[in-house]
Amino acid sequence: MTETVHPVTDEWAKRAFVDNARYEEMYQRSVADPDGFWAEQAKSLDWIKPFTKVKNTSFDAPDVSIKWFEDGELNVSANCTDRHLATRGDQTAILWEPDDPLTEGRTITYRELHENVCRLANVLKSHGVQKGDRVTIYMPMIPEVAYAMLACARIGAIHSVVFAGFSAEALAGRIEDCRSGYVITADEGRRGGRTVPLKVNTDEAVTIAEAAGARVNHVIVVKHTGADVAMKDGRDVWYHEVIDGTSADCPAEPMNAEDPLFILYTSGSTGKPKGVLHTTGGYLLYASMTHRMVFDYHDGDIYWCAADVGWVTGHSYIVYGPLANGALSVMFEGVPTWPTPSRIWEVVDKHKINILYTAPTALRALMGAGDDHVTKTSRASLRLLGSVGEPINPEAWEWYYRVVGDSRCPIVDTWWQTETGGIMITPLPGATALKAGSATRPFFGVKPALVDADGKFIEGAGSGNLVITDSWPGQMRSVYGDHERFVQTYFSAYAGLYFTGDGCRRDEDGYYWITGRVDDVINVSGHRMGTAEVESALVAHPKVSEAAVVGYPHDIKGQGIYAYVTLMVGEEPSDELQKELKQWVRKEIGPIAQPDLIHFTPGLPKTRSGKIMRRILRKVAANEFDTLGDTSTLADPGVVNDLVEARKNNG
Ligand code: ATP
Ligand code: MG
Repeated sequence: MTETVHPVTDEWAKRAFVDNARYEEMYQRSVADPDGFWAEQAKSLDWIKPFTKVKNTSFDAPDVSIKWFEDGELNVSANCTDRHLATRGDQTAILWEPDDPLTEGRTITYRELHENVCRLANVLKSHGVQKGDRVTIYMPMIPEVAYAMLACARIGAIHSVVFAGFSAEALAGRIEDCRSGYVITADEGRRGGRTVPLKVNTDEAVTIAEAAGARVNHVIVVKHTGADVAMKDGRDVWYHEVIDGTSADCPAEPMNAEDPLFILYTSGSTGKPKGVLHTTGGYLLYASMTHRMVFDYHDGDIYWCAADVGWVTGHSYIVYGPLANGALSVMFEGVPTWPTPSRIWEVVDKHKINILYTAPTALRALMGAGDDHVTKTSRASLRLLGSVGEPINPEAWEWYYRVVGDSRCPIVDTWWQTETGGIMITPLPGATALKAGSATRPFFGVKPALVDADGKFIEGAGSGNLVITDSWPGQMRSVYGDHERFVQTYFSAYAGLYFTGDGCRRDEDGYYWITGRVDDVINVSGHRMGTAEVESALVAHPKVSEAAVVGYPHDIKGQGIYAYVTLMVGEEPSDELQKELKQWVRKEIGPIAQPDLIHFTPGLPKTRSGKIMRRILRKVAANEFDTLGDTSTLADPGVVNDLVEARKNNG
């Protein structure tokens, strides 16, 4: 595949906070003098008690320890609300777009946000929530979810947001794991025209969790759809009833920079989710700085991160980063494909969105539905596009660039993880020439490196396992309640290095290309190959919408290539198409990458955050149907049964 470079336009170099010369200079400084660099950046936050120490970190197992600004004190909710009141109290903080386009939306100003947060914080206190207590938030994408997160932060409670699409069992597991004594939920959620029985699920989850030894004292319920739900006396309270008459005066608790802010479970693409623990000062600094610089956020910009708050992207780039920066953050309750595949672009036009941040899974689905759904909208307000969550295939990248952005908007392909707290490898729109499919260069203070299987550093251009060699402020501090698992998972593969679990290639220009999870690398006749490359070749075929590639046991080659392929709307599977696709990959990459088997399927198993779960596809390809592993984070378990049946029938 030919590689096109999209240079930074003059207009962007001029308007952006950071042009290329400034990037180089700041990056050098950030890695040469992290203490000086981050002390300076930290002035962007309001500190209650200034810090005197900046970085105190060690990646050496077993004594891994990560501390930033350890003697400073601040409050996250005060940084996201109080400090904006004097200058932008009447400015919109959250612009809420409901699931149903015919329903009226809501705008919440910073003043209203502040009041709501303070009231709820007082309610939490009056129901016994104390500093350090865990509060589970299981809510739809409505402004109250942000109030809940910030109310916890205000009084020093640790929130654990659980995606509202998760089942009662998954919720129970997360309540139990962090021994959360409180749940904030809603009667029901709405997504894509359907309702989700959140309160019913919560009741079931509490029963399961309590049977396992947890104890839930109170459940606060937001009335959203107005559905008739059961309320348990003494335990359950209506949000609107307890808020009513509660004082909006609630001083923000001074928190140590290293006090926990939240726990968030990873999406479970590779196994049982981990309770990732983030703390106060470093996290907020990193989330807000990356938000400002990667999205080049200026006052007046209309910014929309179309993720869910149930994932880290929603934490850092719907709530904490934008609100710390006094930004306008659009919050969307719905899904990209409902009522039609034009919805995202219609919302863009309706609110004159300038900056849009979404995921490859959404883009591939919308690409598969046809260009008309996009081109019939204007999208003239768009200035910058972002992508996160999975490698974005060059084909999808070019489509996003050309069809969605009318070849006018740079794309920031941002690589990061729940564990990293914020964006780690990314273009900056005023500084970085873009290559379709590459996350490009490290953000300030981030020191990526590639190592081979023995942990030897790979210099210059090459491929290997992506590690980070030194700490950055947004780094997770521990796995909640299990520091040993933290050390084991991230610091035992390569001594003294943070191991990301991702494979990566670095090109001659020093650009990073994430090739997929290290577990997903396939070895065909001794050649190691990232699955992302084969998938991108398949997706580049005009009839293919989505592809997932895994290895499977092969008598001669060791591993063969098994490709699951979803076709564009209107295309039909056939033997000819199968041959054509094999030839196509052969031509695009080489004979070694030609798939041995192509399995057409209308759908792929995905996590609830939309990521393809290759570990399950590996099992199906290998005919190991009895050991599929943890499937609790799957969005649609039915897809797996269909794949298993099809695999059995094809031998
Ligand atoms: P688990 O850790 O439980 O298996 P997960 O890794 O999917 O789940 P997240 O923290 O949500 O949980 O996802 C981070 C991962 O997503 C990264 O390690 C990487 O594999 C992938 N990823 C995120 N952004 C990008 C990107 N821009 N390009 C390529 N891959 C990305
Ligand atoms: Mg992960």
